[in-house]
Amino acid sequence: MNVRNQVSLAALCQELPKSDDLPAGIDLGPLANEMSKLWERSIRDIDEGRVTEWGAVLALDSKGNLRLVNAVEGDSNGVMINAAVEEDCTFVGTFHTHPYEDGTTGMAFTGADIASMINSGERIAIVQSGEYVFACLRTPETPPSVDRLTLVSWFNTMCRRHFADMMSKQEATLATNLDMCAEYRLAFYYGRVFGSLRKVYVP
Ligand SMILES: [Zn+2]
Repeated sequence: MNVRNQVSLAALCQELPKSDDLPAGIDLGPLANEMSKLWERSIRDIDEGRVTEWGAVLALDSKGNLRLVNAVEGDSNGVMINAAVEEDCTFVGTFHTHPYEDGTTGMAFTGADIASMINSGERIAIVQSGEYVFACLRTPETPPSVDRLTLVSWFNTMCRRHFADMMSKQEATLATNLDMCAEYRLAFYYGRVFGSLRKVYVP
């Protein structure tokens, strides 16, 4: 087994790594800056009580560079991301933000996010909420598709259960993300945007 210590996000997106080959950490590299700009836009009107999700596509070009393209603004509940990429690029996943009017940060994926990530064939999905970044990675054992309503309903049940166990909403959401990763054979990383993302779970 050859576990690499830390790799760049671009290198990780080249192939679908097996669980044993997943590195201990992911370095977001130059994308950290771009992601943070979209986060800043998400909360630019928070003083007036308005926030908007922003999203973008992760596109790998023929030279192996990873770029954030098709940046788009949604509303406070979500964002529709256009997955079309240029001819010489490969669609590898999506990025979006989770801002809240009350200033809450540190909120990981929703059930709908995870269902969409699996069903649209993403290798990686990334969410930024404040300075916190969460990444879900497909593995070779991840199913090609899931029933969205089943996943979302189970997600919401588990989240309520964790919340009732005296967890904060951030902790309950994170714990539920890990439940989904175990069921759907996804890997999960977590960290701060300008630090390294740490491996939290591999199936
Ligand atoms: Zn989301």
